[in-house]
Amino acid sequence: MRKPFMAGNWKMNLLTGESRKLVQQLKADLSRVNDVEVAVFPTLASVAVVIEALRGTAIAVGVQNCHWEKSGAFTGELSAEMIRDMGCTKVLIGHSERRQCFGETDETVNKKLHAALRAGLEPIVCLGETLAERESGRTLEVVSRQLKGALQCVSVEAMKNVTLAYEPVWAIGTGKNATSQQAQEVHGYLRNLLKEMLGGDVSQQTRIQYGGSVKGSNVKELMGMPDIDGALVGGASLIAESFCAIVHYQK
Ligand code: PEP
Repeated sequence: MRKPFMAGNWKMNLLTGESRKLVQQLKADLSRVNDVEVAVFPTLASVAVVIEALRGTAIAVGVQNCHWEKSGAFTGELSAEMIRDMGCTKVLIGHSERRQCFGETDETVNKKLHAALRAGLEPIVCLGETLAERESGRTLEVVSRQLKGALQCVSVEAMKNVTLAYEPVWAIGTGKNATSQQAQEVHGYLRNLLKEMLGGDVSQQTRIQYGGSVKGSNVKELMGMPDIDGALVGGASLIAESFCAIVHYQK
């Protein structure tokens, strides 16, 4: 049985005071939730404030990116070890905005994934097709290439700490979510691919989140699909009421 996992990606939003306020609201509503795993991904500027506010709760904190080297001449970057050292337990890898705006490739995603696992972080690896790729019938080919690239040389053992997030690029921040059938088709495909690549246990235990305009009004239907195990939420995670409604989707 895979525990549902709801994660909020705050992207480049919220000053420290705003982050503290949001997290205090989340804490008030979510601190007793134990049937759903919850994580938030604030900006680096707000990480310390958020960790402090969430101390003693089950809400995990992560960051939105990491570098693959442990240290060195990489101005502006943070290593996975540094992120762990800050008190984070999670990291997002390969978000489509990083792929599109910062030139991330399947190869760098794979290097970052190994670095994150080495540092003891629990990564969420993001993948998904663009609108042009979907319209030309290449969705499954694209996510297959991304999954195989991301998971190169990752062991069965290490996969216990990895979550996948299927995020069709055309659904991110657009208000236009994939239908539950469209999402399920890709999630089911990814789960079968995991079975071929890493065996039945990995395939059954790995959580696959859906991301792309998830809100309180569509989460229940998406979560009703057999291979959707949670959500990676952007816009709706910036408003406590909206994110809490997503976490409480079973009510
Ligand atoms: C995201 O940033 O990963 C995301 C899915 O954003 P939104 O929920 O705003 O579409």
